[in-house]
Amino acid sequence: MDFAFDNSFHDAMEGFYAPAEATKHSAPELLAFNRRLATRLGIKVTDDCDAELALVFSGKKFLDGANLLAFAYAGHQFGHFSPQLGDGRALLLGEILAPDGARFDIQLKGSGPTAFSRNGDGKAAIGPVLREYLVSEAMAAMGVPTTRSLAAVATGDRVQRERSHPGAVLTRVASSHIRVGTFQFFAAHFGADHVIQLSDYTIRRHFPELVEAANPHLALLDRVIGLQCELVARWMGVGFIHGVMNTDNVAVSGETLDYGPCAFMDRFAVNTVFSSIDTNGRYAYGRQPQITHWNMARFAEAMLPAIHAVDPADVDAAKALVDAIPARFRAIWLDEMRAKLGLGQPHKADEQLIDALFGELEQHGVDFTSFFRALAQLLRGDGDMLQSLLPDAEAMAPWIADWWAQLEREAIAPLERADAMDAVNPLYIPRNHLVEAALVSAEAGDMAPWTELLEVVQNPYIERAECAAFAQPAPIDADPYKTFC
Ligand code: AMP
Ligand code: MG
Ligand code: MG
Repeated sequence: MDFAFDNSFHDAMEGFYAPAEATKHSAPELLAFNRRLATRLGIKVTDDCDAELALVFSGKKFLDGANLLAFAYAGHQFGHFSPQLGDGRALLLGEILAPDGARFDIQLKGSGPTAFSRNGDGKAAIGPVLREYLVSEAMAAMGVPTTRSLAAVATGDRVQRERSHPGAVLTRVASSHIRVGTFQFFAAHFGADHVIQLSDYTIRRHFPELVEAANPHLALLDRVIGLQCELVARWMGVGFIHGVMNTDNVAVSGETLDYGPCAFMDRFAVNTVFSSIDTNGRYAYGRQPQITHWNMARFAEAMLPAIHAVDPADVDAAKALVDAIPARFRAIWLDEMRAKLGLGQPHKADEQLIDALFGELEQHGVDFTSFFRALAQLLRGDGDMLQSLLPDAEAMAPWIADWWAQLEREAIAPLERADAMDAVNPLYIPRNHLVEAALVSAEAGDMAPWTELLEVVQNPYIERAECAAFAQPAPIDADPYKTFC
């Protein structure tokens, strides 16, 4: 297997990480390997090499050119600052340059303890590993910026959680693992020089065009805010609830990072929370925009020493950027919602229509994902799908009439509009009951349901008759869904 490592963080950022070693697991066995992603990354893999893949992606076989390291970071967890987190169960194998020149981190998660493990065991259980693989690949297929999953390997060892589980290692691919919490760590412990060094590295790696800005650190703040607003607007559009939007889980690249307790909403309810540890609903669906504002205020604080060093007057500009986040988010979110509803050019009346939608969906307990597909079906002259989602024929009728009136402002053929809507509204998402069933089977040794679900959600927009069951919401009397980190 051929990896062209090019380890820029290791070489340029000594002091920002700790060297690490992978645990040599007893009997690694390949559960899944993402050949399409390997090709995109330029990793050459022969057929019939599962045994070698298992050794490499459990960390048992050392690769030439790898520089194993654990990143240092801090972070606000549920609003409270933890000055010392860091990769406690992950290690970077190295960075590779894809054939198109794009740079990616290749990281093992669940590969054993590191210098930052604190009281943790450094391990991961098979369920969360396969969940992250499945959901991150579904997000990628929906065009939502995200880290990716290259491999999942069962370790052959057990992991103790609330009970004992088979252990596994996930290979995560990210455009980088630099987090808001990475900046917070160096702002809290070392001050301006380190923040400037990290900001300069981040700009060179992700946003080289910002080098030319009058104050590149201010420009970085602006860019990261923009990317987070775009990311969270996409989450809102697909009904995704991240579940643990701590600042150590916010990647400055704008990719979704850390698929611990995340889940997708079925029937719309703005306060939906799945995470068992989010008892106050801090990271509920409807709070994600405000939390983004809060997290970006923490990012701005960490960046201030660097911003100030270039020009003290820019501290006010940084504050203005943070204050502008709610309006900036709303504009991006409205665009997202317009596209979902088949509305073309922005219009003042759209805003009312969009704001009114969520109360309607909640009042009638409508399945969020199916609703937008049902609207497109209505444009095709078929109202059956919409009726099947609503409690009675009159529910939402006034809203639908308003929506219809808005559409008529623009002369777009209904069928054309319906196709455009279907191209942005997924039909197949990783629904909680399907994910759960797939993980239970996988833990019992049968990967087939997981593999089938992965194939379905990797192609989320195009309807296939044989996949009809995958588009159905959980039965109405299903137990409330709970997720665990
Ligand atoms: P998370 O909740 O996944 O964002 O993790 C928060 C922090 O706990 C990070 O520093 C993780 O590296 C660390 N962590 C989570 N699980 C483990 C584990 N099993 N062993 C060691 N560290 C862990
Ligand atoms: Mg995390
Ligand atoms: Mg996690």
